[in-house]
Amino acid sequence: MATTNGVQGKDLGLCSCRDCGQINQVSDRFCCRCGAPVQPRDYGSLQRSWAFLITAAILLVPANIYPITTLTKSGHITQDTIFSGILRLVHADMLPIAIIVFTASILVPWLKIVGLGIYLSAISFNLKFSKQKLTVGFHFIEWIGRWSMLDLFVISLTVALVNMGQLLDAKPAPAATAFALVILFTQMSAKVLDTRLLWDQLEKQDDTH
Ligand SMILES: [Zn+2]
Repeated sequence: MATTNGVQGKDLGLCSCRDCGQINQVSDRFCCRCGAPVQPRDYGSLQRSWAFLITAAILLVPANIYPITTLTKSGHITQDTIFSGILRLVHADMLPIAIIVFTASILVPWLKIVGLGIYLSAISFNLKFSKQKLTVGFHFIEWIGRWSMLDLFVISLTVALVNMGQLLDAKPAPAATAFALVILFTQMSAKVLDTRLLWDQLEKQDDTH
């Protein structure tokens, strides 16, 4: 069983509250501080996390193939998808902005979805990964997640600036909604997962080494 450096709360009959962090006895049904149900492990969270992740992955398709912005200039309408928008920025010599948009709207969402997919698979299918890699990757995913609203910020900023200039009219197009939902569902997928399931998986692997 557990060695001294691998002791988990459940081995000691303790369980932290997922809402307030209070340490309770596993035998307690409700948190003594906030009254939330005490759950040593939330196995149902794995299914919910998969459901959100798969939804996010499906929504990536409309987010990428439909136009994300509509520009109207002297009655001439230009629609851009995420990718053609990035190309347009490159051609307009706005490379730094193109890089920000590429990072925020392609790199980060993909890395996050693939990363979460690997974690959920590691728990669901008992995959073998080194403890170090999984831990580093987990913190990386948390860290990049906070940058994923950047693209919506860039879109809204562009729309505001362009409209203020009165030169042309810009509006977010259908893919903007799909993209916002991709971000939302990816965040939900990471949020609902009981990460203690991942640590259990790591402990199990430690035992096999
Ligand atoms: Zn509590």
